Parts: sequence; C-alpha cells; structure tokens
Amino acid sequence: MEPRLAPLIVVSGPSGVGKSTVVDAVLALVPEVWLSVSVTTRPPRVGEVAGRDYHFVDDEQFDRFIEQDELLEWAQFAGNRYGTPRGPVLEHRASGKPVILEIEVAGARQVRSRVPEARLVFLAPPSRPELEARLIGRGTESPAAVAQRLAAAELELAAAPEFDQVIVNTDVGQCAAALVACLHE
Ligand code: 5GP
Repeated sequence: MEPRLAPLIVVSGPSGVGKSTVVDAVLALVPEVWLSVSVTTRPPRVGEVAGRDYHFVDDEQFDRFIEQDELLEWAQFAGNRYGTPRGPVLEHRASGKPVILEIEVAGARQVRSRVPEARLVFLAPPSRPELEARLIGRGTESPAAVAQRLAAAELELAAAPEFDQVIVNTDVGQCAAALVACLHE
C-alpha cells in the first residue's frame, strides 16, 4: 500500500493580498508545517535571503528545471518566472510534514490537475482599493511593477470560485486559523 502523504495546501491570491503574512502566522502556530521554497528568475529584493525566501536563478537554470521536469508547477508572473521544486514537496509530505505552497493562480491550477488531493485556498482582499493601497504601501515594487501586478490581480480575483475555499483577509489571525483548520480536514 502507498504510504499516506501529509496534506498539501496551496495558498493563492493576488500579489499584495498578504499571503506571506498569513502563512508566517500559520508557521508560528504549527511549526511542523513546511513552506515550499520556490525558484524564481526575479532578482532578490532588499532583505530577501537566497534559499530562504526563494532560490534565485537565471533564465538558463530555470529552463533546465523545466526540461528535467523538476517543477511541480511554474508560471510567468509580472515579467518573471516562478516555480515549485517537485522533490522537496514530496519528501516533506512523505515524512509526515504538511506542506504549504504560496503561489499565484496559474500555478495553483496546475497543482489542482497534478495533485488532486491538494487543498486550494484563495486569499481575497477586503476590497480592490484596499489591495491597491497594500501593494503601493509595502513599497517593494516600482510604480510600473505595481501597475503590472494590479492588472494581474483583476484576472486572479476572477479565479476565486475555482478554489476549494475563499478566505477574505480582514484579520491575519482569523485567516491563519482557517488555514490551520484545513490541515485537519
Ligand atoms: P513576488 O515577486 O511578490 O515574490 O511573487 C509574485 C507572485 O508569484 C506572488 O503571487 C507569489 O505568490 C507567486 N509565486 C511565488 N512563488 C511561486 C511559484 O513557485 N509558483 C507560482 N506559480 N507562483 C509563485
């Protein structure tokens, strides 16, 4: 009999909605959860640490990951590519650790088709103006990049009904508690 794998939770939603803050709160509540570290061609932001926040790679390396089928999913987002290394996700799940992926919507759809038992959660902003204020307020992107991310957000918000659960991010603690509940379903 196949060994039972620990849960795989996908947290998706538009850039700026607060996915990282909510997921950090989940990790603080349930330390055995493992947050997947993605590969990206985006350059590091100030304060980001290679291997912790992302594995930062160039285009050639990313192409190689795709060719060698090492990514569980990948997508182009706002001019860069992002992907989830397949091996570590499986290894952690097999060792009994629930895994969280924090990814955009196109990637979440790929996970849905490749890992049918994954639980897909969409984090929604309380309102569009609120999302815009958060994206601008965090000050990590240029005005052009903010505009690109807001345009992507329109499409992402329309995808919410495809998810198993939609959580509106009005309160970090409540969102984190809802995600922790998913781990036990
Ligand atoms: P950021 O540049 O703000 O770190 O990430 C941009 C978007 O890419 C966010 O919505 C983030 O959740 C998403 N993202 C991060 N890693 C991955 C990944 O491995 N795959 C996919 N599909 N999206 C990702």
